[in-house]
This record gives sequence, structure tokens and C-alpha cells, in this order.
Amino acid sequence: MDLLDSLVAKGLAGEQPTRDEALAVLASGDDELLDVVAAAGRLPRHYFGRRVKLNYLVNLKSGLCPEDCSYCSQRLGSKAEILKYTWLKPEQAAEAARAGVAGGAKRVCLVASGRGPTDRDVERVADTIAAIKEADERVEICACLGLLSDGQADRLREAGVHAYNHNLNTSENTYGDICSTHDFADRVDTVQQAQSAGLSACSGLIAGMGESDADLVDVVFALRELNPDSVPVNFLIPFEGTPLAKEWNLTPQRCLRILAMVRFVFPDVEVRIAGGREVHLRTLQPLALHLANSIFLGDYLTSEGQAGQADLDMIADAGFTVEGADEATLPRDRAEAAVVRRRGAGTDLPPNA
Ligand code: SF4
Repeated sequence: MDLLDSLVAKGLAGEQPTRDEALAVLASGDDELLDVVAAAGRLPRHYFGRRVKLNYLVNLKSGLCPEDCSYCSQRLGSKAEILKYTWLKPEQAAEAARAGVAGGAKRVCLVASGRGPTDRDVERVADTIAAIKEADERVEICACLGLLSDGQADRLREAGVHAYNHNLNTSENTYGDICSTHDFADRVDTVQQAQSAGLSACSGLIAGMGESDADLVDVVFALRELNPDSVPVNFLIPFEGTPLAKEWNLTPQRCLRILAMVRFVFPDVEVRIAGGREVHLRTLQPLALHLANSIFLGDYLTSEGQAGQADLDMIADAGFTVEGADEATLPRDRAEAAVVRRRGAGTDLPPNA
């Protein structure tokens, strides 16, 4: 397939696919699926080897959100049966983080429901980071606290946050269909604030919300403009009690095509399979390891993930290895660019940047 040869060549050269090429990957048929996976899989193998980075999610605060994101079980008025609690104490969060790190996680993602943190919330998170780092200084911390206000990203960086996650989720055109309490521009602004403060940007999407192929390509290209260091790909879990409860739109094959398209657009960036991995990829999860180089270990957010050991077994069975705390995630060129963004030009690259 000429298209795939061209996409691989572009990816190895660090070039972008065109919009039509990205759409063609999504439109490819089941007969071509293994060819698509094999082609896209050459890119992470080139840039990341056979390493899989493990991330562990600690939910600092769950439910009771005033926003109305229609995909979210924690939204205003959600009837979904999830745990609802306000902030975990730093020691509780550190204990949860320890379990993930012991299971092989390199990055701990500290997540809190809500529109965005107050300055007091940011200080709570700072205390939590101190408790986690006391046990293991090398743990990479990502914060996911919602929309940021002035100065908060700087404070988080000072507290030891490495990355900030804030997803664009869907295309600008359809954003108003999934949320009325904030808009696409608000999300872009928070990602840019995090980057300006020197944090590594983690920003991705949710597939399966009824969007078109063009919407998916739009959001992935919008993400590309933001130049994140990691891109989580979520597959919608249609929670009962949310407006999208009936949106079961994904097949395992479709998920693989989406991951392949994202990989062609982000050849040398951490692409992470996030929410909905088990529910939607099901028995094809090992194939997805050829496309993404990062997954969440075990349980995440408000849904049950596979038990951590099952993930570790799958990685080993598929011939991959877990990325160690001292191994670099990003290829050197990209890591250097990220460090320059974080610390200014002329800064040496640390061994595990
Ligand atoms: S702001 Fe976050 S926690 Fe609140 S409804 Fe939206 S996605 Fe859910």
C-alpha cells in the first residue's frame, strides 16, 4: 500500500502526514488492518525500541464536579455509581502512588475532578508531591487538575511536577456538543500555560463520542499544533448515568486504526493508551502495544482497569519490556527540545530526561 510506505517514510523523517493521509488511515478496511498496524508500528520501534512506559493514576478527588462534560462520570448531576470524595491526604495519596511504582510505574498521574484548582488546592498537591518524592525521588509526577489560573503552573513546577495533563478531547467544532461550561480555547490556554511554565505538556483526546473521522483528525492536528510530549488516547467508556451512556461506537479494529493515525501524526512522541483500553480493545490489546509506547497500569480513574499483573504479563508475552525509571522516554532530539522549553537554551540534558 503506497499510502503506508509514504507514511512510514514521513514518520521516520519526522514529517507530518497530510490530512487526507490521516483520514485514509481511519477509512482503511479490516483486510488492511494488520498492514496498517505493522506500518505504524515501525515508528515507535524506531524511536522507542520495545519499551512500554507505565503510568499509575491516583485520584486525589473524585466526583462532585460543577462542570458538565458529557463523557464524564464525575460531571454535574452525574448518576453514575462512582466513588465521590474530596482531597486524599498526602500520606494516603503517597501510599497509593507507592503501589503503582512497586508495580513498575514510572509516572504517577495525580488527578482531581473539578473545573480547576484553587491556590489552596495547589498547595495540597505540593504537599502530596513531597510525600511521594520522599519515598522515591525518581518518580515522574504529572498533575491533572483542570483549568489553571495565573501562577499555578509555576507553583506546580516548583513543587516538583514534571508534566501537566489537560486533554483537548475533541475537535473545536464539536466541543460545544460535549461541554457547555468551558470551551476548546480554555483547554488550549491551560496547555499553553503549562508549557510556558516549563512543564511537559500531556494532552490527548477521547474517541467514540459520536465524532466523525474529520473531527478525529481535527483534534489530532490541533494537538500537533500544541506540540505535547505525551498524547493519551482515551476510548469513551459510556457510563450509565451520563449523557453519552448509549454511545457504544467503537470496535477493537477501529481503536487500532485510531491509534495508528495518532502514531503517524506523532511518530516520536509518547502515545499512551488511556481510558477504555480493556473495554474497547479487548483481546486485541497486545496489537495496540505496537502502536503506543505507554499505558496506564491497573485501575484508573473511575473505572476498573486490568489488574496490574495482567498488564505486566501482556507486555512480556507481546515481547516488550517495561521502561525503567532511569531510562529516557523521549528520543534524544525531542527530549533536548523539551528541556530547552523547560529550562531555557544552553541547559544540559539530564540522563533520564
Ligand atoms: S471538568 Fe473534569 S471532572 Fe469535571 S466534568 Fe469535566 S472532565 Fe469531569
